[in-house]
Amino acid sequence: MATKSKKKPSPKKKSAATKSRTAKSAKTPKPARAAGTDPKRVAAILAKLDEAYPSATCELKHENPFQLLVSTILSAQCTDVRVNQVTETLYKKYPDPKAFAYATPSELEQDIRPTGFFRNKTKSVMGASKAIIDKFGGQVPRTMEEILTLPGVARKTGNVVLGTAYGIASGVVVDTHVLRLSRRLDLSRNEDPKKVEQDLMKIIPQEKWIQFSHQLIWHGRRVCFARKPKCIECNMESLCYAKDKTV
Ligand code: SF4
Repeated sequence: MATKSKKKPSPKKKSAATKSRTAKSAKTPKPARAAGTDPKRVAAILAKLDEAYPSATCELKHENPFQLLVSTILSAQCTDVRVNQVTETLYKKYPDPKAFAYATPSELEQDIRPTGFFRNKTKSVMGASKAIIDKFGGQVPRTMEEILTLPGVARKTGNVVLGTAYGIASGVVVDTHVLRLSRRLDLSRNEDPKKVEQDLMKIIPQEKWIQFSHQLIWHGRRVCFARKPKCIECNMESLCYAKDKTV
């Protein structure tokens, strides 16, 4: 009969279907990575960095791996410009690891004083120089494991020296700029530089690790300032959803 064929589905059946859908969505696992680290988005950011900074490189002046090591130690809490001013005469006075290792501490302290924290930096530079002579035949070692045994050398310095002086990609340099920009660009939600480096190593192809950190440092120094980033001049603006964007 016509009346029977028009029968509506019972409320009981409807409720079962809804329950099934709810159960399915509850079982769907959450994405393991933040949306910001979607491979296509990361590739787009890398392309934009290549476009804006094709020849980004380390701004610490040096003529060999040892000088870069010393300059990187001196650059803690100091600008590269100031370090370059100091090292222009420093490397003439102390031309090799031996000269630093056997320097008069109080004299070296005064020589590097403009870079700040000069007492600790003197200890680190002299200690690292001695270790390079005693353990590594006068050469800066080429592995992260070995370079981390030098006094005053942590992963950031190790990555700078291995990457820039030797072209060895052992990790990603995470300085204050890389830390800030990685978070702004939602490439990492961590605050600890070591964890941020691990996050970046997972999403950036290894062959880009060295150049990526140079480019991010350049972007941080020229456009994406800590205060008032110049978003209007940023070629990644359409990819960036930082809360403190200025456009
Ligand atoms: S849009 Fe602004 S906050 Fe985002 S990366 Fe560019 S300069 Fe930095």
